[in-house]
Amino acid sequence: MNGAKCNKTPIQKTVCPVCEESGKKVELHTVRALIKIDLIDTLREEDYSFCPNPDCTVIYYSASSNAVVRKDQLITRIGIKEKESPRPVCYCFEYTVEDIHGEILETGRSTLEKDISDKIHAGLCHCEDANPEGRCCIRNITIGVKECFRLYGTMKKNKETRISKYR
Ligand SMILES: [Zn+2]
Repeated sequence: MNGAKCNKTPIQKTVCPVCEESGKKVELHTVRALIKIDLIDTLREEDYSFCPNPDCTVIYYSASSNAVVRKDQLITRIGIKEKESPRPVCYCFEYTVEDIHGEILETGRSTLEKDISDKIHAGLCHCEDANPEGRCCIRNITIGVKECFRLYGTMKKNKETRISKYR
């Protein structure tokens, strides 16, 4: 497995039957791997997509039958669907939103994107299986870093002025 593969997830968009946000297709084995064990038999053998709407409790849906898998039916927490910590964003290397924020507040910058990209190039990434979104999680890190600077970058009155340089 290598990094190149990581970015080649085919994009097939469908629409969540609950919130109508468009989501991308994920592999059935990803859904299977994350659904609670006693629900596996109830999972229909269909094509599923991931609903990216943070306010929607649907994680996976089938565009053909409108079957949905909600977050309380999964064994893992999905960072973008959670408002409280821990909010996992990288499932291969187990980074959370809190890790991103902690580093930025501590040092004024984030090294996680570089760290993950190095690990991807070293062939250590298995996002397709580990990330509930069925794709590379580095984008989640980028979003998390931006979000952190947006949240804290304006705290110029406080001691965190060095953060604003990196916005
Ligand atoms: Zn939805």
